[in-house]
Amino acid sequence: MTSESGNGMIAGESDHGHGEHHVHGIMQEDPSAKTPVLRRYNTERMVELVRETLVLIGEDVHRDGLVRTPQRVARAYEFLTQGYAMDIAEVLNGAIFAERYDEMVVVKDIDFFSLCEHHMLPFFGKAHVAYIPNGKIVGLSKIPRIVDVFAHRLQVQERMTLQIAETIQKYLQPQGVAVVTEASHMCMMMRGVEKQNSVTTASAMLGVFKHQVETRSEFMNLISSRLH
Ligand code: ZN
Repeated sequence: MTSESGNGMIAGESDHGHGEHHVHGIMQEDPSAKTPVLRRYNTERMVELVRETLVLIGEDVHRDGLVRTPQRVARAYEFLTQGYAMDIAEVLNGAIFAERYDEMVVVKDIDFFSLCEHHMLPFFGKAHVAYIPNGKIVGLSKIPRIVDVFAHRLQVQERMTLQIAETIQKYLQPQGVAVVTEASHMCMMMRGVEKQNSVTTASAMLGVFKHQVETRSEFMNLISSRLH
């Protein structure tokens, strides 16, 4: 049994338009890994559109607080959607190892921050990931990075959860994969659609986690103290 707490992150204000700020601490364990190249956005056009949006909202785009807002928003969207430009094969490059270990590997409490594709508002929470190897393991720091790749796109929580599971299935061909995500959705919280503290849970179970009740229960017990 291996269990480790993950470490997610979200965009800070940054002066770099492209780049390095998605390489968080965890990458230091693997300096040889290539940094995936970000897609180049038409930043100028995006800035124009954000400025127009502000006008349509009824704002004065010339007042102090808003002068640089279009640039900041454009950069924020570049960062928050950088997952489109990331290649999983590059992210995992050099971090898959042949290993006879065949017990459950669990990485829980991985923070993630995503944007719902219906409203482009944040949803965020924790991801819990487990797999049972079948001859191959992946460096533990890569699992939060896989979560980041899919979180940094416009998403629905259910699809993101499944994509994380299917990616691990594809690259490791383990005996099984389990992913549970729990998230708060700003589009529900801010619009008062549901109780403000409601948390949405989604899960994807593949292989033995799908077919063996005991295996699934073991995983759920391991993470259940964290579930709401
Ligand atoms: Zn939404």
